Amino acid sequence: MGPKHQRALFCIAERVMTSKRKHVQTIRQLAGTEEYYLLIIREIDRLEGQLCKTRSLQAQATLTLLEWLTTLHYFNWHCAYCQERPFQVMSHIIPLPQGGGTTVENCVPACYRCGRSGRNKKTNMLVIGNLMQLKTKMQAIKEQAQLTMKQLNLSLLPDKYAVCQFHPDKHIPYWALLGDFVSLTRTPEELSIVCQEDNVPGDIEAERGWRCVQVRGAFDFSIAGINASLAIPLAEAYISVLAIATYATDYLLVKEENVERALQVLEQAGHIIER
Ligand SMILES: [Zn+2]
Repeated sequence: MGPKHQRALFCIAERVMTSKRKHVQTIRQLAGTEEYYLLIIREIDRLEGQLCKTRSLQAQATLTLLEWLTTLHYFNWHCAYCQERPFQVMSHIIPLPQGGGTTVENCVPACYRCGRSGRNKKTNMLVIGNLMQLKTKMQAIKEQAQLTMKQLNLSLLPDKYAVCQFHPDKHIPYWALLGDFVSLTRTPEELSIVCQEDNVPGDIEAERGWRCVQVRGAFDFSIAGINASLAIPLAEAYISVLAIATYATDYLLVKEENVERALQVLEQAGHIIER
């Protein structure tokens, strides 16, 4: 599983905490394998159980699923104390009865043996050192997740578009460059052109009937994953899109027959549609 895929799965997992039943199908899809799906579901249950127990003790209960999965990932899904055996339980460095909370600073994976036995202070200091490093990493991941789920202003461009494919050696036809939105991609295999449908001559083979949603307003080019906040809700609604990134912003091409539903879904996901 690639890092991008994993981040998307983590983000979904994060949202799932509030309405697990609704998103089970999405996790199943994103997880790809049954094994990974079961693993995520197991951690959701584990975390919910711990948070519940912690709240009943009036202690701090702030650990999110994203934080917990990142912690597990950081310790390679192994016990944070012995770092030898696969992890089996969530361990609180300061135990719950002693006032420890279920927080990112206080929770690590442990094997049964280390989780149960009285862990000595030296080991704890080591683990705390590891956690400090993890926290820095976590902050970066958190910021990225927030960006990923950022609210965006979107607008639907008025025209219809076509996606045309040519031999890579072909000259760019003049008609392709007309209109307000044109995207050209040349690879060794093809010359691919997205342009206004009206300008495409009738005898040209093209996939017609696309609408284009523009992400409004400039944002920093370095912001990766801005598309996930659009792609994830659409994927959940089984609407496929063709994404085009430019230096300044992103565009989503959606088939005409799906565009109204797509806008509805994006609106429900918290984005603002400028109509
Ligand atoms: Zn251990």
